[in-house]
Amino acid sequence: MLPQISQLLQLQERDQRIRALQKELKDIPKNEALARNQLAGDLAAVESAQQKAKEIEVQIKSLELDIQTRQNSIKRLQDQQFETRKNEEFQALGTEVQRYQREVGGLEDRELEHMEALEAAKAVIKEAQARLAATQARVDEELQALSARAAGVRQRLEAEQTERETLADPIEPGALDLYNRLFAKKPDAAVVAMENGICGGCHMKIVIGTLQQLRQEEGLTQCESCGRILYLVE
Ligand SMILES: [Zn+2]
Repeated sequence: MLPQISQLLQLQERDQRIRALQKELKDIPKNEALARNQLAGDLAAVESAQQKAKEIEVQIKSLELDIQTRQNSIKRLQDQQFETRKNEEFQALGTEVQRYQREVGGLEDRELEHMEALEAAKAVIKEAQARLAATQARVDEELQALSARAAGVRQRLEAEQTERETLADPIEPGALDLYNRLFAKKPDAAVVAMENGICGGCHMKIVIGTLQQLRQEEGLTQCESCGRILYLVE
């Protein structure tokens, strides 16, 4: 094997590791967003439960107002009853008082039902908040782990990059330049093995001329289909 090929293969191995680490680092914000998304459902449940309780409170206020209005009427009718001397009018006022009192009774029953519903709604809020808190704790843990992973990846990346410089240093500039350009364009590798007359990168058949050039080992040989640098596996 050409010494240049083994130098480039070592460099490539390092570059592939660097590429994987960079991808891992790039995926971390995406994973953080996914972790935070787990909160959305629980947050919505809390908000919906709070909304429900608020609606019931508004209904209770409205019922209280209706009761108050009728009690004012009762008071006014009773005052009139007290002042009148006509028996007929006294009776009529009394009937109206009773009618309002029945209404107040009905409204109070409804108010009681609403109070019970409010208690139930408050219990639902509490449950939803507890679920949210549990999810929040889990999400915080995940975020912490992701942040630790990011720090670790950055550290490893820095070390790999330093070692890469050391490996690249002795490589002939022309070969290094060709390799760098190829590696930047290819998602897998710039230097690939040729086995059974097939390029290990693009899997196309290698033409005879290229094959001969490869056997002569006089310089770097590229696949005529994909341009990757080839080496022989005997
Ligand atoms: Zn090829």
